[in-house]
Amino acid sequence: MAAESRAAERRMLLTFAHPDDESFGMGGAIAKYVAEGVDVSLICTTNGDAGTIPQALRDQYESIAALRLAELDCASAKLGFKEVFKLGYKDSGMMGAESTNDPACSWYVWQNEPERLIAQIEEIIRQVQPQVVVTFNEYGGYGHPDHIAVQAATVAAFNRVREGAADGEYQPQKLYYTNIPIGLIRFGIWRTRLRFKNPRKVGINKDIDMIAILDHAEPPNVRVNVTDYMDIWQEANACHASQGGGGGFGPAWLRRLIGARQGFRRVHPAPNHNRIDEDDLFDGVTLA
Ligand SMILES: [Zn+2]
Repeated sequence: MAAESRAAERRMLLTFAHPDDESFGMGGAIAKYVAEGVDVSLICTTNGDAGTIPQALRDQYESIAALRLAELDCASAKLGFKEVFKLGYKDSGMMGAESTNDPACSWYVWQNEPERLIAQIEEIIRQVQPQVVVTFNEYGGYGHPDHIAVQAATVAAFNRVREGAADGEYQPQKLYYTNIPIGLIRFGIWRTRLRFKNPRKVGINKDIDMIAILDHAEPPNVRVNVTDYMDIWQEANACHASQGGGGGFGPAWLRRLIGARQGFRRVHPAPNHNRIDEDDLFDGVTLA
């Protein structure tokens, strides 16, 4: 009974950029925490409308944005978010694309009006009052401008709420970055080279640099065991059919093997080592 009431007070806020980042990135951990009674909320900054969409799916919706947001609603229902905040920015597309110059896209806003994005995230942090916040790493996982924008704005907002809090006032306690497993990145680079392709130019548009991904990948400090939630994770991934319904580096069996223990890098409180020293994102959290 005591454990149950304590669990109900735990809150987590995820800040990502596209419909699918939440599921592909950490769907297993979301399902686990929701099942354990944690209120998990999500900020999704963009509509994901720069993606390449199969025409058969595209025809069923009035716009790509409508399709991507419907896929997010599907995944949200599977994962059980408490609240989803859709900020409605346009998808920037990858670095260097013409679409990054659109004033409605999150990268443009981050470049020209960063305060706007920070203030939006800050307001949601104050509203949701999470103890734990999770976002991308500083490279945005794989260098996507929308990922980098939401990461940087989240760190600024997190610090601002902490620094502005008087004694006894709410402040977020922990900040984590999602973590692409280093083993998977190495496997992907090895497999790309085996096919005589350049690991610095992969993906449909050849705009993903796997060497840079590896350079920015830090070892995790926490591993969350999500073995029991692999099926829900898969169902949430499948909601994002226009994006392939999951996938990524390596074959499904390898992703499943590595993914069952989801790693995260702790940013606050900052670790002074590269070891695993936690098995729960809420380790050490004080519940008010
Ligand atoms: Zn994304």
